[in-house]
Amino acid sequence: MNIHEYQAKEIFRSYNVAVPNSKVAFSVDEAVDAAKELGSSVSVVKAQIHAGGRGNAGGVKIAKNTDEVRDYANEILGKTLVTHQTGPEGKEVKRLLVEEGCDIQNEYYLGLVLDRATSRVVMMGSEEGGTEIEEVAEETPEKIFKEVIDPVTGLTPFQARRLAFNLNIPDELLGKAVKFMMSLYQLFVEKDCSIAEINPLVTTGDGEVLALDAKLNFDDNALFRHKDIVEFRDLDEEDDKEIEASKHDLSYIALDGNIGCMVNGAGLAMATMDIIKHYGGEPANFLDVGGGATAEKVTEAFKIILSDDSVQGILVNIFGGIMKCDVIAEGVVEATKQVGLEIPLVVRLEGTNVELGKKILDESGLNITSADSMADGAEKIVSLVK
Ligand code: ADP
Ligand code: MG
Repeated sequence: MNIHEYQAKEIFRSYNVAVPNSKVAFSVDEAVDAAKELGSSVSVVKAQIHAGGRGNAGGVKIAKNTDEVRDYANEILGKTLVTHQTGPEGKEVKRLLVEEGCDIQNEYYLGLVLDRATSRVVMMGSEEGGTEIEEVAEETPEKIFKEVIDPVTGLTPFQARRLAFNLNIPDELLGKAVKFMMSLYQLFVEKDCSIAEINPLVTTGDGEVLALDAKLNFDDNALFRHKDIVEFRDLDEEDDKEIEASKHDLSYIALDGNIGCMVNGAGLAMATMDIIKHYGGEPANFLDVGGGATAEKVTEAFKIILSDDSVQGILVNIFGGIMKCDVIAEGVVEATKQVGLEIPLVVRLEGTNVELGKKILDESGLNITSADSMADGAEKIVSLVK
């Protein structure tokens, strides 16, 4: 789960991870009031969307007085920002963060991720902050420093100090940088984060080490023990189909293609997307209906796929183990009864109750192309949507 910068900064404050003073605003008037309350000579008006790259897209503006705050708030609120992370459709700005302007001396990058190669949390830092860290990693990987963290000891002070040295943080600010890193690590672990990214982390003219930007992602599987974080969820930022899917406990992710996929098992779902691509098609979604899905759940899953306007054909690829083929067939028939089916449907069923499943589909009167194998199914649906 993803949250907004202003929400991440609230969490930072509760862990004594230093951030500038700021206030969230939902309207232009609120933004002006926020700036007055902050009372700083310079305020920064920042679009709050679940995507980075706002600065370059005109979503971060520096205002020298409250009139400018009003102008910028007017300009940014309601605007659809297109950044390199939003996709071409962009995201509409509905919230602003008004923040006190900082006298930036230097911009750094600091991140925490779970590294699958070492099975450890890794803290990464670079002196090349404020820019695209992906580019730094690509072009000058030697400028990124990593500390692999042992889960038993946690981030140790000497590791934090070594990282701060490597980033060339000025000597007099090392203590503050170390404290920042230690607190951030504690937050990361206690809140079950999957990503914490601060780009930029800055040193300021008045000797502070602050997070100017803040991105936190959380492990969905741990949200049950973080009610406070679930409250930060902003449905405006999420895909409607993914919201619907989460209500029915379906693992669904919307993609850019035109072939809808209904599959059981994450591995088979990935393999199905691969094989569609292999035959020159593009999957419209990842969907794992899971092992013990009921006919109702399959019905909802199929309806979600059908509600996607870009879907021009559907491939159902089921290997019935715990999941029974007849349950899938019933779900498909029920969904099409409710919402109709005007696009090609290819079904490949194998495993438990396969004969019964095929019979249900045959007797449904639906125009279904059946497939004997995954490859056969993928080839058929790709040619049908072409
Ligand atoms: P994004 O990563 O989405 O572009 P950031 O929060 O990183 O957004 O802001 C972009 C840039 O704007 C920062 O690199 C920094 O130079 C500047 N900036 C952001 N917040 C402030 C602030 N409070 N004071 C001064 N400059 C800021
Ligand atoms: Mg940033």
